[in-house]
Amino acid sequence: MADVTVHKFGGGILKTAQDYQRAATILNGFGPGNVVVVSAKFGVTDQLAGILANLSPNSGDVDAFSQKLLEDHLHALEDVSDSTIQKEASKRVLELVSRLNKVLFGAFLLQELTPRTVELVHSFGERLSAVILDAYLKDRGVRSKAWMSDDAGLIVEGRFSNGTVDLTQTAQNFQKTIRPDVQEGLVVLTGYFGKNADGHVLTLGRGGSDYSAGVVANALDAKKLLVWKDVEGFMSADPKTVPNARLIPSLTYKEAEELGFFGAKILHPKTMAPLQEKGIAVEIKSVFDPQKTGTVISGNGHQAKSVAKSVAVKKNACIVTLHGGSLLDVSSIAYPLFEELQKHDLPIDAISTSQSDLSLCLEEKYLHELQRALGHARIPVSDVAIEKDVSLLGLVGEGMRHTIGVSARLFSCLAQSKVNIRMISQGASEINITVAISKSDVDKALKSVHAEFIEGEASLA
Ligand code: ASP
Ligand code: MG
Repeated sequence: MADVTVHKFGGGILKTAQDYQRAATILNGFGPGNVVVVSAKFGVTDQLAGILANLSPNSGDVDAFSQKLLEDHLHALEDVSDSTIQKEASKRVLELVSRLNKVLFGAFLLQELTPRTVELVHSFGERLSAVILDAYLKDRGVRSKAWMSDDAGLIVEGRFSNGTVDLTQTAQNFQKTIRPDVQEGLVVLTGYFGKNADGHVLTLGRGGSDYSAGVVANALDAKKLLVWKDVEGFMSADPKTVPNARLIPSLTYKEAEELGFFGAKILHPKTMAPLQEKGIAVEIKSVFDPQKTGTVISGNGHQAKSVAKSVAVKKNACIVTLHGGSLLDVSSIAYPLFEELQKHDLPIDAISTSQSDLSLCLEEKYLHELQRALGHARIPVSDVAIEKDVSLLGLVGEGMRHTIGVSARLFSCLAQSKVNIRMISQGASEINITVAISKSDVDKALKSVHAEFIEGEASLA
């Protein structure tokens, strides 16, 4: 059996008919053994979420929504030149939208929106997108087949909108479903969702198509994953703030994961684990320069040359400090707190403790939920302090491991730039140091840390 390569095309590069054309042109060069994981067309998942959020008893809204969605997707098919292929794909688009329309009507009539319905509705963007890309491939004479990931047997377990893939079961199912087609030609597979053991659609969370691509590569024992973007790869800092930012040629899985947590919009951090498990390398490539390889992520993505590879920032965070009072030690706060955090599924970015205080840093959008969680928890605190307008700045790189003096350099560089550090967290893995700083200090902090750690490095490999 020929080696398998998995490709991922995200919604950010699937906005127009021309974008689908471009994707098909790139894929035209690849024959059997290639699987393409696609996201929804740009903005469509947001639209689907939007119609559900505005559930009104007005049935006219549903029809208008479906009509608009249908037109948008038929429009995306307009550059397919073979009229038979175009007609066939249009028919499938129409069928999908009619099915969606019925589901939406059902919910609107019942005035009831179950999580199961939400998941199903959210999956339609990817379904439509796969049909469109498949049509452009066929139009070029490429042997291709569009598969829906639930039909293909991609098994997801866990919570609604935050599923985890059962890799063993999925790999077994793929042998019977898509594997024969992968051998014959190209397979276009929907990202973002699969089905649970009962056969109901379950999504992997927003941005989850990257994770889909990782699990598909794992399940098919792929040689590599090519992630197509409109940029060449990960950068050493955001070039909008730091003009001297450079492309990072290689990263380890861990480094890429850390940068993903910081919101580098290149690859969802969940993508890495299934790839790392099988040592499958990732290449980030730009659709505008398909021959060139940008960032490569692999197990040996670090050649121990540079201390740090990137300085990343997460904005809109806040610090919540729980004061235990003089009689309590931090463990009596931590236990009930962590239990509650897990129940509420709250993503905490950094934690720091002292004898009787515990500080958490999290995105401001989760503050309300955290406050509710704190209300539920029986945590013996004397006082809770909240500090808003905070940003997290993280220095990331495997080279920091066992390098003495990195924190000292970071702190003195920030001090020289008159940046006040409000909280510090260094993971025991030592591949990142995170500091919480004031939002207004972000630009100068980024510039000076980048100059200190990155600009002098000959190579970021
Ligand atoms: N379409 C989904 C979203 O917008 C999944 C993805 O694009 O990765 O979140
Ligand atoms: Mg995405």
